[in-house]
Amino acid sequence: MRLRIDTDLCVGHGRCYTLAPTWFDTDDIGYGQVKDVAIGLDERGAAEDVAAACPEGAIRLELS
Ligand code: SF4
Repeated sequence: MRLRIDTDLCVGHGRCYTLAPTWFDTDDIGYGQVKDVAIGLDERGAAEDVAAACPEGAIRLELS
């Protein structure tokens, strides 16, 4: 599984990297970036939660 950020929707609230710093980082001006880390099947619920926490709906979880 991979998390993705739609950069057209992200406005830099920072909830992703505040809630899940293992999976997200920030760029120089506060927009979220996805770290290159694998997400295990046992982490799917947590990944869905952080995706749902983005106020802009900019985060999605890809299952492939
Ligand atoms: S929570 Fe959403 S809008 Fe905020 S930085 Fe992360 S991806 Fe962007």
